Amino acid sequence: MTKKLILIAMSGVRIVDPELRALGMTLPGFIERGKVIASMPSLGLLTIAGATPDSWQIKYREVDELQPEILPKIIAEAPDLVAISSLSARIEDAYQIADTLRQAKIPVVMGGLHASVLPAEVSAHCDAVVLGQGEWVWPDLLRDLESGHLKPQYSGMHAPNALESTPLPRFDLLEVARYNRIPMQTTRGCPLDCIFCAASRLISPYKLKSLDRIRDELNAIQSIWPDPFIELADDNTFRNKGWSRDLVNLLSEYPTMRWFTETDLSLADDEALLESLTRSGCAQVLIGFESVQEDSLQDTDTRSWKRKRLAEYREKIQRIQSAGISVNGCFIFGFDADTEETFDRTWEFIQKSDLSEVQLTLLTPFPGTELYRKLRAENRLLEDRFWSKCTLFDVVFHPKYFSPERLSERFREMVSLVYSPEATQKRASLRTKIYRSKVSKS
Ligand code: SF4
Repeated sequence: MTKKLILIAMSGVRIVDPELRALGMTLPGFIERGKVIASMPSLGLLTIAGATPDSWQIKYREVDELQPEILPKIIAEAPDLVAISSLSARIEDAYQIADTLRQAKIPVVMGGLHASVLPAEVSAHCDAVVLGQGEWVWPDLLRDLESGHLKPQYSGMHAPNALESTPLPRFDLLEVARYNRIPMQTTRGCPLDCIFCAASRLISPYKLKSLDRIRDELNAIQSIWPDPFIELADDNTFRNKGWSRDLVNLLSEYPTMRWFTETDLSLADDEALLESLTRSGCAQVLIGFESVQEDSLQDTDTRSWKRKRLAEYREKIQRIQSAGISVNGCFIFGFDADTEETFDRTWEFIQKSDLSEVQLTLLTPFPGTELYRKLRAENRLLEDRFWSKCTLFDVVFHPKYFSPERLSERFREMVSLVYSPEATQKRASLRTKIYRSKVSKS
């Protein structure tokens, strides 16, 4: 008999600080990127769907807001299993959903980064927790459920399995018209080790996917969306330069495809890779510069990889943008060495470097990170359980040289400057110029 599985992705993240939220509404440039991220489907759940036998009928749902009609609708479908994936910022909403479904005798499984690092907390709200890379334990979990022997925990943490052995994500479950960006993973993990990073090493060592397998996924996506915009759901795509050149050449074989990814500044050092990028559909790369202040970068990664490159930041941005690739530069505020002056210096850097896109966030100690352990040990967390404020835009700890209120205030001022209509317009014009130079070179 066919069984029913409902996959629930907790999408959308709300800034808690009411003043920043109100400000964001007046600064379209600020909410743009948040909207882009929220508009992407959950690759983890689509991959889990790919690992589900044909004897299951699968539905994929996004829960952006907890509207009252959502739960009765899910209960009325009488699923045999609901699987929920949530980041920390939406985990309290996820718990409400899970608790209500379990009261209705519907088994619930939870996974995602938060569940992977706090399985004991999560297990109080579900029948089983999936840790780490769930696709490799999912078939066992379903078999156990069907035989009435579901275990409380299944772990795919640090599973050594090759990336190409993951099942093909079930993109066909998505409403085609709803999505304009499709996620695809080509690497997992990152060899750098920034202390605030929740993604780089927690669940998997650094892995590359084979190009043959990437081609299969691109073909699957293009059979549904002929002109897709692909967002590579990688932590740091271009670490391995030889493989990256081959990857970009492969992506260039799809002329109607445009794409975006995250990487680091070493991209600027590889002429051949830059040339391939110019010819490809790459629209933008996102690079975490984190800070323009040397002593703030001191604490970023243990090998000070970023600090050692600070002096080259501007020149390398120029080099990448001259190749026709827009750079989205990310800066974080709240490092222990940050002072009032850090904000002024960052604004000056942003203007002088001619970055064509900018992302600002507050330092956030996500559970499981080195930063979380440090701040907790130093008794600097404002609340024990602050998951809903893990938005990247809310202050959740005592900064060193600011009160939490003053850091929020300076951050709002910075947001007002960087996302003012004039600054946003200037960056938009710059992106157009960069794009035109790319077209003329390719
Ligand atoms: S470079 Fe980026 S992905 Fe890598 S550890 Fe640092 S923040 Fe994480």
